[in-house]
Amino acid sequence: MKATDILDTLPIGLVVLDRSYRVQSWNHWMTIHSGMNPDAILNHSIFNFYPGLNKPSFIRACKTVLTFGNVVYLSQKLHRYLFPFRLPGGSVDGCEYMQQSCTMSPVHSEDGTITQVAIAVHDVTDTVLMERRLRRVNNLDDLTGAFNRRYLDQRLREEFDRHRRYNRTLSICIFDLDHFKETNDSIGHLAGDHALIEIRKLVTGHLRDIDVLARFGGEEFVCIMPETTRADAAQVSERLRSSIEETVLHWKNSEFRITASFGVATLRPEMLEARDMLEAADKALYKAKEKRNSVVSDAELSSTQASPIEQAGRS
Ligand code: GH3
Ligand code: MG
Ligand code: MG
Repeated sequence: MKATDILDTLPIGLVVLDRSYRVQSWNHWMTIHSGMNPDAILNHSIFNFYPGLNKPSFIRACKTVLTFGNVVYLSQKLHRYLFPFRLPGGSVDGCEYMQQSCTMSPVHSEDGTITQVAIAVHDVTDTVLMERRLRRVNNLDDLTGAFNRRYLDQRLREEFDRHRRYNRTLSICIFDLDHFKETNDSIGHLAGDHALIEIRKLVTGHLRDIDVLARFGGEEFVCIMPETTRADAAQVSERLRSSIEETVLHWKNSEFRITASFGVATLRPEMLEARDMLEAADKALYKAKEKRNSVVSDAELSSTQASPIEQAGRS
């Protein structure tokens, strides 16, 4: 077997370009994934076939290899892919193209000058998809499929910081199922689990894609609503409250209903960290629990429980 034939047996792509970006080598792996034979592409500019490569970052990488003889690594994490090869089965998990990590190395002529750049293309799609799946599973609550507490803490911190920095309106609501202990006691814990799952689905159906629904613990959920005013968050919460109330749940041969109480809070300048917002929503929820099956916002609290300074100002 000749050395060039060995290149065709490699389970990676190998492309060699000269100093004018003309293709000098195109191995069998590249043919399979591009659908293009070497005859069609050899001695032509790579940019004729892959115009997307004609961008400063790729040209800079080639120049670094050709000028300094450095080896350049193009990580998938930064570039996703160099050659746009569609995945054969269509998009998987938001991934439309083969994910690639590429290594670019200098090729020297006999007199020691660098004449070409060799690009090795590694297909890392499986690893990327596995990482995505693991990350997602890590962020989800096992029972309900809502986001879990860890993800909630992280996202709330991020959203809080972002909205504060850009002076945007952020609202959250926290809701807790009413008399849920009684539900468990009367129809059983599995029926209670079923109710948690159904309520998660119901609530998700009412939210926007950018909202984040997380299980805070037990029978309590938190919903982060970016770019949402207090009035809109209260309206959404009211819609959630009434649709939970109206839903008839089925378990084995019995039917049952559940209600929930909601506390709404909106970012205010005096809130310095995400925890302050959660605390405000939790206080509103505590108030909502006086009646149950109701929605209370943090604004209602400050008007009914005015601080001594506010009271003094009013008299
Ligand atoms: P309140 O209206 O004051 O909220 O009353 P409650 O009964 O809902 O509140 P309490 O805190 O007394 O009880 C919460 C119940 O939620 C008790 C607990 O068994 C139940 N619970 C928490 N997590 C789960 C779960 O994953 N599955 C089921 N089935 N029940 C759960
Ligand atoms: Mg409860
Ligand atoms: Mg509770």
